[in-house]
Amino acid sequence: MAEFSIIEQYFKQARLYQNNVVLGICDDSAIIAPPSNHELVICTDTSVEGRHFPTTTAAHAVGWKSVAVNLSDLAAMGATPHSILLAITLPQIDHAWLKDFSQGIFDCCAPYAVDLIGGDTTQGNQLTVSVTALGWVEKGQAITRKGACIGDYIVVSGQLGDAAFGLQHLGHPLQQRLDYPSPRCTLGQQLKGLASSMIDLSDGLIQDLKHILTASNVGATLDLENLPLDPVLQKQPQQQQWQYALAGGDDYELCFTISEKHYQILQQQNLSTPITVIGRIEEQLGLRLHYQKQRQTLDLHGYQHFA
Ligand code: ADP
Ligand code: MG
Repeated sequence: MAEFSIIEQYFKQARLYQNNVVLGICDDSAIIAPPSNHELVICTDTSVEGRHFPTTTAAHAVGWKSVAVNLSDLAAMGATPHSILLAITLPQIDHAWLKDFSQGIFDCCAPYAVDLIGGDTTQGNQLTVSVTALGWVEKGQAITRKGACIGDYIVVSGQLGDAAFGLQHLGHPLQQRLDYPSPRCTLGQQLKGLASSMIDLSDGLIQDLKHILTASNVGATLDLENLPLDPVLQKQPQQQQWQYALAGGDDYELCFTISEKHYQILQQQNLSTPITVIGRIEEQLGLRLHYQKQRQTLDLHGYQHFA
């Protein structure tokens, strides 16, 4: 019984943004009418308390981030977000927590007019939040990890390493970037027809960029002096800066490759997020790191889920 009142009280919206939701929360499944000539883009991401976010994380931030990481995956395909499903496992029913948590969910959805159209609510030992996000892209227009070409620029949005710094300095203002990542939905869509490949940065730049290199069967050189770093990070010892920016997770910025020609076109647009060129795609396989033209060998540790 409690399950239904929780759904009614916290997760059912009075009004939906999207008019093509035929059936939202209320039945055995949701029904949506996808626009013609589009492809459905779907992803899911689970966050476990103590593993993916510190146990001290505010309920509102837990809700926000659970949605943000999924919208970021849609953004990385160039998709327009549409709706989400939410599966939660709660150790106990804490109304104050649920109120803030659901507000965090809706606050992250609102700027993109994303509706919560279904989910599942269960009781269990460990707080677990699983969000599935749905979006659209015009047929054949999705940007995948495969497609980086020799000579392409490697570009990232925003700043790198803020979240990793925030995780190691809980209470510092940069913790905000750990708790409240901004999904780059608008930028992702602006890159359709321009970027040759794209990924969102969840596990650290090096690990994630390697996925593009492998999928595209190319190599790359990064110019570390061009990494976009917050002034707080710039004051850290250099190896530490690189550790945060190259191997720190949870940035949820976009990393994409783009030809010089398309980059010029992109620069003429009014971009929703600042972008920085940090390297070049090359024929020689592998990833090389340069600092002021000197080759660097770094001992970095990326986030390994099962390490
Ligand atoms: P069923 O038993 O058929 O799976 P439920 O009783 O679990 O149905 O869910 C009833 C309705 O509430 C469904 O529309 C389901 O999608 C929705 N729902 C359940 N939990 C959540 C949640 N945490 N957030 C959003 N919708 C939910
Ligand atoms: Mg159920």
